[in-house]
Amino acid sequence: MSADTNLDIAALDKAHALHPWTHFESFVRDGPLVIERGSGCSLWDSDGREYLDAVGGLWCTNIGLGRREMAETIAAQAEKLAFSNTFVDMTNGPSALLSAKLAELAPGDLNHVHLTTGGSTAVDSAYRMVAYYQRCSGRPDKTHVIARDSSYHGSSFATISIGKRSGDKMPEFEYLSEGIHHVSAPDCYRAIGERSEAEFCDDLVVEFEAKINEIGPDKVGGFFAEPIQASGGVVVPPKGYLKRMAEVCQKHDILFIADEVVTGFGRLGHWFASWDEFGVQPDIICCAKGLSSGYQPIGAMIFSDRIWDAMQGDRWYASGFTYAGHPVACAAALKNIEIIEREGLLAHATKVGQYFEDRLGQLENLPMVGDVRGRKLMLCVENVADKATKALLPDDLDVGKRIADAAEARGLMVRPMGHLNVMSPPLVITQSQVDFVAETLELAIKEVTDQLVRDGIR
Ligand code: PMP
Repeated sequence: MSADTNLDIAALDKAHALHPWTHFESFVRDGPLVIERGSGCSLWDSDGREYLDAVGGLWCTNIGLGRREMAETIAAQAEKLAFSNTFVDMTNGPSALLSAKLAELAPGDLNHVHLTTGGSTAVDSAYRMVAYYQRCSGRPDKTHVIARDSSYHGSSFATISIGKRSGDKMPEFEYLSEGIHHVSAPDCYRAIGERSEAEFCDDLVVEFEAKINEIGPDKVGGFFAEPIQASGGVVVPPKGYLKRMAEVCQKHDILFIADEVVTGFGRLGHWFASWDEFGVQPDIICCAKGLSSGYQPIGAMIFSDRIWDAMQGDRWYASGFTYAGHPVACAAALKNIEIIEREGLLAHATKVGQYFEDRLGQLENLPMVGDVRGRKLMLCVENVADKATKALLPDDLDVGKRIADAAEARGLMVRPMGHLNVMSPPLVITQSQVDFVAETLELAIKEVTDQLVRDGIR
């Protein structure tokens, strides 16, 4: 029973809600976990149990939950102007101010902003922008795009088709495939094999150029890349990879679209990782999540002067969403950015993120942990059956879920993704909370390892 309402929230939810990305059998069996309250890095469920949320919502609660200042900002804006559209030539203060702020924070000449409702709508807009820009520039056939294996770019029809994580495509549905191509993920742990990191990087660049030539350089208009692949398994590319891929893009007039939905707004200690972490100047940055730290749903496509200039003239940009430039969402995003600046959260994320990397790295001593990877506040643990061969445990053991459940029973939330446990805590996480995460996750992994040994599986 929910303390708030005296209604049985779990039963109502079970009877009526279709959850995103749900597994029917286990949902019907186990029902939902009802979360009632959040503050900082903590969540409380409807039974009053506290959890340290190392998932950060879904890579998004960057400034932490429960901030009165955010609630007051949202309430004040809702009272003053809850909604006004931004179609054609209308605007509102928060929308214009946020656009200007994003242009200031984004690298180089990324001075133009198309606000959206979240990450998928930002990437979806970028997908359309590829053909639009190329055609406005007199290159009518450059409408094909290239993305990578293990990528996730959203859940709309176009963006789920651009992404390519195993298991994301329902066999009951047909996805877009015309004009969408994929190259290998820059996965140093799984794909590097006997090669050195530098050789692996060379091979990836060669593969990319070969793919462009196979499709035809006059047909490829855009390349989508998360600086660090997030939901695909926290895949950190080999050194120099993104820069070299961007150079190939430049050579062939291909727009480089950095999907910074996860990596933006401090997760790696910078506003945007493509430039500050990897030295790449993208043509388009897509962002969401940490843009408002989850206080309001909002996203943005930030794009360059070059694209803006090409679009000018007697033509329509016929694309956009009712809630684009939503004043309440924009006011929340502006306040969120102000808090990140005022509290020095980028510097804090860099420092505490380094500590998190070091602490979690120690888990590589455990017999079931094959790899701990990621950077700063974006890390994951890969569980394996055999560290030498990197062989995985059988899928049906659901090892990531088992570990997540064992951690949850100890008051820690980590995200299970197949064989992985993924973490992206709020930027405000403290060193002692990092210690709690590392110690609790270690206990959870040991508990599951012992179970598997007892069951004769390991
Ligand atoms: N791009 C990336 C890299 C993401 O991780 C996500 C969501 N996890 C999206 C896009 C889609 O964002 P949203 O769920 O807000 O539509």
